[in-house]
Order: sequence, then C-alpha cells, then structure tokens
Amino acid sequence: MSQAWETVIGLETHVQLRTRSKMFCGCSTSFGAPPNTQVCPVCLGLPGALPVANGAAIGLAVRGALALGCTVHPKSIFARKNYFYPDLPKGYQISQFDQPLATQGSLSFLSPERGAVTATIVRLHLEEDAGKSIHDRFPKATAVDLNRSGVPLIEIVGGPDLRSPAEARAYLQTLKQLLEYIGISDCDMEKGSLRVDANVSIRRAGETALNTRTEVKNINAFSFVEKALGVERDRQIALVESGGSVSQQTMLYDAKESTVRPQRSKEESHDYRYFPEPDLPPLVLTPEFVAEQQSELPELPGQKRERFMAQYALSREHATVLTASRAVAEYYEHVVRAPAEPQSAANWVMTEALADAKDHQEQLRVSPAALAQIIALVKGGTLSNQAAKRVFAEVASKGGDPRTIAESLGLVLVADTNVLAAWVSDVLGAHAPEVGRYKNGETKLMAFFVGQVMRASKGKADPKLAQRVLEEKLSA
Ligand SMILES: [Zn+2]
Repeated sequence: MSQAWETVIGLETHVQLRTRSKMFCGCSTSFGAPPNTQVCPVCLGLPGALPVANGAAIGLAVRGALALGCTVHPKSIFARKNYFYPDLPKGYQISQFDQPLATQGSLSFLSPERGAVTATIVRLHLEEDAGKSIHDRFPKATAVDLNRSGVPLIEIVGGPDLRSPAEARAYLQTLKQLLEYIGISDCDMEKGSLRVDANVSIRRAGETALNTRTEVKNINAFSFVEKALGVERDRQIALVESGGSVSQQTMLYDAKESTVRPQRSKEESHDYRYFPEPDLPPLVLTPEFVAEQQSELPELPGQKRERFMAQYALSREHATVLTASRAVAEYYEHVVRAPAEPQSAANWVMTEALADAKDHQEQLRVSPAALAQIIALVKGGTLSNQAAKRVFAEVASKGGDPRTIAESLGLVLVADTNVLAAWVSDVLGAHAPEVGRYKNGETKLMAFFVGQVMRASKGKADPKLAQRVLEEKLSA
C-alpha cells in the first residue's frame, strides 16, 4: 500500500465488569443461562420499574479509570441514550454523556512500528448493555435474549492516536492485559465481555487535520482486529485514489469474507437525544471511596516490568514475557524466593514452564519449590540440562520430588572419579590415534573425548568432571 497515506485509528472498547448482578437491578450476570431467565421488570424496561445503581460496578469502573491514569470526577451523570432496536425494549440505554465518570487518562504500549507510544484515553464512562438478537434459533425469525440487557459495562474511548492496524492490536492487547491484572473484567471476547469498535480515517503523510472517519463494528475476535482495520484502511485509500471521498458511516466487518460493508448512515450523536436519566440521582463519589478503590489496585504490568528489570537484573524482553500475565509474574517470583538464581529461574519459566502451561490450559503444573529444586540440581552438577528437562516433564505430569524422580529415572550424573576414570580409560584405549594427535597439540580433540565419555556413560557422566579426569590422564 502506498506510503503516501497515514492511517488514523481510535478505539472504543466496551468492557463487561466482573459483577454478580446487573448495573441497575439484582439479576444475575452469569454467562450461558437459558434465554430470558435472568430478567426482571427493571432490565425488561417495564413501565414503573426503577433502576438502582450497582455499587460494586461503580467501584470496578473507578479502579479501571485510576489504572488508566484518568481523572475520576466526584460527580457524574447518568444519561439516556435513545434509539430504537429490537433488543432494547426500553427504547433507550442508560449511559453517561456530557458528564462521564472519568476523563483524560493514557495508556502506554509498545507499537510494532514506532516503539513506545502513549495513547490518550479521552473518557471512561459507565453504561448498561443491551440485549441480544439471535438469528439462528428459529427459521425465518429473529429471537431476542434479554439476559445481557442491563449488564454493567465501561466504555473506554481512546483518542485518534493509533497509526496502523497492527498498532491498534498492540494497544488493545495492552489494555486487555491491564484490565485483567486489576481483575475488573475477564476480557473474554468470545463471551462478549470485551468488544471493540474502531474509528478509522486516512490522510496524506504529513497532514495533521483529521479527515472523515468511518466506524468499524462487529470485530468479534482478537485476531480480527488487525484484519478488519486493514481492510477498511485499504478500502478508503482505494476510494480516495480513484477520485471518490469517504463518507461518515458505520461499516460492519465480515470475518468470513474478510470484507466490510456499510451498515447505515452514521447518526450524529445528537440523534440519540441524550438527556439526564430522571430515575437516577447524580453519581457522587466521595474521596474516601475513590481512595479505597485506589488501595485495591495491584502493582500494574508496566510497574512490575520495571521492577523486575531493576530487582532481578532481567532484560526488558525477559521482564516483558514474565509480566505478560499476573499469574506468570507471581509464579516467577515464587520460584526466585524458593530460592533460585533470578536469571536461571527466568530461563526455566520462559521455556519449560510456559511451554507446558500452553499445552495444559495455562496451568503452571510444576510448583515453584520443585522448579527451584530442579534448577539447584543443575547448578550443583547433579543433573545435566537435558536430564533436568526430563525431570521437569515428569514432575509436571505426575508430581513428586525432583531428586527422587531423577534417581528413579537414572538421570543423576556420576561424579565419582573412580567410575569416571574407568570410562575415560576405555575411551582413550579405544581411540589411540586421536590420543596421539592430541598429545601433538591438537587440543580441540578434548570435546571429542568428552563426547565419547558421555556416550560410554549413556549421558550419566558429569561432563565437567569427565573433562578434568581426561586432562589428567592425557597429560600423564
Ligand atoms: Zn433485572
């Protein structure tokens, strides 16, 4: 694609908050219940039913805002967003409009093209989810499930700061990691608890004004983010290069066809006829409440990464891998405290432990204490690296004590010089020509002799000790 164009992307991310009950009623939010079994007069929108805001959801939203460095406003207003849709029986959604919960935060992430980038978070507000239209349950008819109607969401509106589809994906990944760390959502795109819409426009390289944008919706899997935005960017560039112009509209992404098609002319925001929700008082947050939410925040991923680099002398790359999830970071620190030398622990966690977890539903199956013991057995010369990996696999699948397992598998290295001396004699006796060459100065043959001893011992010889015995015998 032409280098003359720059892509401008801003993401609006909807995140389902991890609460047991809905935003304005006591109905359950659990996923997968039979249709329309988790509903009441409030979330069905029956006349006369009154909403009451869910305090737990407000707390989680405030935590999200604080983690994103937003200013949390002591007073915000719930507003009605009016529109017609079959899955919205009330005819409006309760959201926040001109006085949102929080504004002006930021998210730093690693762009694949530009390195470290700090993107603006314009606002973060609370709202309720709508119901769901189901098109494949009855032939020629659409059904509506209102279980999701009224589920608490936050909408995180990012500024137009992203410059490529790949960058949008990196931003979203970093946002998801942060939200998972602070535990306010499970961020499961397949269950609809993390949804993203994207505003996309293009401009000539060097231009600073923003051109007409489209909104891309229906990106329902993480892997589609980059594809969908790439398709829309390419469509806009082709359109403008052929003399057309981009019109403001909503585009629906079709993952099967890898295309976008227009949904409807984009309503201007005033078409929603927002007005303050008359059934809810202003949302007033005391400084004590906000401070309490602040105190519930754990160490954030970026802070943890910097600390790992300083405290354990790890490279940025290693610290990034080890802090990718809170569970892995905590596991690593337990191994180090067991204790184990930090870099060895990092190597083992990043290779064996993460590979094993990938094959077993992300379960870290070897306890930190057992992994620290395996590392110590290698350091102490009891196990070769190869043998240690076998012990790790055995402990992962069956559990047990690493040392006992190493012995039962016959993997403990032989460090008895008498036994080693016998293998060394056999090897030297069988390779008289090489011994002669070695004695004439061809010292690089040492590696060959060590290899032969390892072979004779079926891998059980301690290689360092074997070399020492070989040197002694060859210099005699
Ligand atoms: Zn309800």
